[in-house]
Parts: sequence; C-alpha cells; structure tokens
Amino acid sequence: MSKCRFSVVAGVTLLACAPKGHADESTNSDAQALSFQRCLGNLTRSAEQAGIAPVAIASLKHARHLPKVLGYDRKQPEFLETFSTYMHKRVTSWRINKGKEMLKRHQPLLTTLAAEYGVAPQYLVAFWGLETNYGAYKGKIPTISALATLACDPRRSAFFERELLQALRLIQREGLTHEQLQGSWAGALGHTQFMPTAYLRYGKDGDNDGKADLWGSEADALTSAANFLRALGWRAGERWGREVALPPDFAYQLAGKEQSRSVSQWRELGVRQANGSQLPDSQMSASLVIPTGHQGPAFLVYHNFGVILGWNNSEAYAIAVGHLADRIAGTPPLVRPLPELAPININDIKAMQRELNRLGFGVGEADGIMGPATRSGLRAWQASEKLVADGYPHPEVLQQLLHNHKAS
Ligand code: CA
Repeated sequence: MSKCRFSVVAGVTLLACAPKGHADESTNSDAQALSFQRCLGNLTRSAEQAGIAPVAIASLKHARHLPKVLGYDRKQPEFLETFSTYMHKRVTSWRINKGKEMLKRHQPLLTTLAAEYGVAPQYLVAFWGLETNYGAYKGKIPTISALATLACDPRRSAFFERELLQALRLIQREGLTHEQLQGSWAGALGHTQFMPTAYLRYGKDGDNDGKADLWGSEADALTSAANFLRALGWRAGERWGREVALPPDFAYQLAGKEQSRSVSQWRELGVRQANGSQLPDSQMSASLVIPTGHQGPAFLVYHNFGVILGWNNSEAYAIAVGHLADRIAGTPPLVRPLPELAPININDIKAMQRELNRLGFGVGEADGIMGPATRSGLRAWQASEKLVADGYPHPEVLQQLLHNHKAS
C-alpha cells in the first residue's frame, strides 16, 4: 500500500500518496500507451453510463497520456518548506501592490459582491492573487489529458475519474471545446483554480453574458470565489484572524487550531494585540496558531480561518490569504518578524514521529507531515522535558529527541 494524505484544493479533497517504488518507472512505454488506450475506453463507457452528452464525451478522443503530470504527482520534497519561506514567497510587495490595484479596478463589483455574499473585497482579491497572480498564470496543461492521465494511474484513479467526468459535464454545460480546458497539472481551472467539481457547483456568471467563464472573465472569477466562500460558511463582518503578542512564560500547550477559547479568555491569559493594546472583550471563539514556534509571530484565528481551510486545507495557505488580504486593505506588516529558520529534512520529521510514538506520545503515522497530532505530541514531549512546548521541530529539539533515540 502506498502512503497517502489528504489535502483540499478549491474545496475538493486531493489524496497525495508516496511513490510505491521503482516498479512504476520500469514500465515499458508501449505497454503504457496500450494500457492508457484501454483505460480511455473504460472512461468513455463510464461517461456514457453517467449520461454525459456524446458531444462532450468526444473530447476523450483527444486525451493524451502526460508522463510529466505523473512526475508532478509523484514529486516528493526532501525538505519541509518553512513557514517563513512560504510567506516570503507568497505575500510579496508585488502581490500586495497589484492587489491594491485590483481592489480599485473592480471596486463596484467587489462592493456588490460584499453586500450579496458577505465576503469583504480584499479577501476575494487575496485568493485570486495567491491562486494565479491575478490571472497572470492560470496553467496551460490540457485538462482532459491531465485528468485522464491521473484517472488511469492506479494511485488516485477514483478521485480523478470523478473530476474527469465533471470536466466533461462542464464542457457540455458551458459549450466549451476540449482545447479551452487548460489549467494546472492536477486539473485546477481558471483565475481561481477551481477543480471541475467546484467549477460546476460554484461557478457563477458575474458579467451577465449567460456563462460562467473562469478563464476569460475576471468578474465571473470573483463572483464564483464569493459564491464558493459563502457556501463554505464565510461569516460576513468577521475577520480571518489577527497577529497577537503572547505574554512571557506563555503556556504554549494552549496553541493549535484543534482547541479554542473565547477572545475574552485569551485576554485573561495575557494575550494582547500585536501592537500591545488590549484584545476586545468578546465571546467570539478563537484558536492560537504559532506556525514558527515561540521564535515567530502568533495568530489568533477565527471562524473564517476554518472557511479558508475549506478552500485549501493548509494553515500556511490560510494565514497567507488572511495576511495578504489585510495588507491589500492597508494593514501594516507583521509586528513580529518571520524568523529565518533552516529547512527541516522530512526524514528527520519521520524519525521524530517514530520516536514520539515509541515514547507514548501517539502522533499517528510517521508521514513526515507536521500535522495537528504531530505538533500536539511534540508539545507534550517538550513539556515533559521542561522545554518551551511550542510544537515546533527546532533543530535543537530534534537533536535532543533523536539523540535520546540513538542512546536507547
Ligand atoms: Ca460571464
């Protein structure tokens, strides 16, 4: 069995799996071509059984096997990208300035969308900026071929077969040609990188030409993003979260999005706004997120943070969207700078997970991912060792934990 983990892109759960070994690479390319043609035959029958119109099903005749798509799908990074690097790459001054420009350019539409869907303008612009640099890079990989290649690959075939059929339905509903469907290697489409399922379900006509065109119409893209966020439960008038300052000797075990307190309770624990002023006395539920541990900024996150995770299930992505939105709206940079931390080898994270499991701090599968269970287990171990229990795998923390492992 290959090792798999879930992530969500544009509301659609993706399953990312580790490679199964060298057998796949040695497959003869003729055999691969033959098996792809056979698989396309099966996909065509599935589409017919699903009642999709023959004119849309005909697109499958143009599907090509794309080995580079499998290459992207199998790519396994060696190092964890640090949150600081992630933020520096994504919340750039170019994106902030361009976002301010877009906020002005689309002001009338964005004001209407805020009233109708309850999503403030800067958030819609921030999603757009992060997904495709405001439409500058929407991806040029032919979607039908990409999805057919992934649907014919055994690792995630069920998910991608479903998306392929949805792409055919999209061709049928919007009167598109297969050449028009272009996007990312994984099948995400247009300005907002919706998967076909999200496009079909949440795509909206924003410029009243009768079509939801997420490639050619910025108005359609922004309207569709607002529609999707409302469906995910976005609360009007609420922010995503905010940077906060923690008191000295703060109990870091209270951090993590899996536990929450009211803003008032955080206030009683000595948490303040990043500029040092008091938090409001509010019953709003909030969690504390510290993506780079005690050396970096801390964030109180609210309900809409969880909504952003519904779009893309990554805390770093959600903070990047929220912070970019704030910056576009004119909020100053983070008060506490992002620390320069060395990238961490994923094998070290796996070794750490195995050691935490061995010591009884059950963190689940040693998958090399710093998920909530791993961070929580690491916090508990740090506390037991009288270390700052921030759940961050600092080099000295790994050193101590893995050194003990070797000694035992
Ligand atoms: Ca339209």
